[in-house]
Amino acid sequence: MTRLESLDGMPGIYRFHSRACGRTRGNSCDCQCTFQAKFYDCKSRRCRVRHFEDAASAQRWKESQREAKRVAKVKAIGGSVSDAYSSIRKSAQSVDRAYVDASDTEVRSSLSSALSLIHAAEDEIVRALGVE
Ligand SMILES: [Zn+2]
Repeated sequence: MTRLESLDGMPGIYRFHSRACGRTRGNSCDCQCTFQAKFYDCKSRRCRVRHFEDAASAQRWKESQREAKRVAKVKAIGGSVSDAYSSIRKSAQSVDRAYVDASDTEVRSSLSSALSLIHAAEDEIVRALGVE
């Protein structure tokens, strides 16, 4: 049995069993496993691997790597569309900060819907540019 166990619905995230785990001998798991996230970085042409205590953190890291890659690709294209994408991302950050600060329920709900529109615009630009 391999020490890496793939997880349903979480591609690129694995449960990483210790060398001494019973699972490696065909028994059930009796170790304190960690979670491994793998991400292929085109720029360095290497696979980045990191370990986390829980699957959610591993997934968050993988997601942030994917986003950074997307941002770099859009930036590399350049031009006005690329600039628009940068502005939209800045707007998203401002609205997100405002959302965190807002205590009024109504304000929070309008900021939240503004945020989803901004994210939709972001996705649309990425799709139109054919970046991932
Ligand atoms: Zn185990």
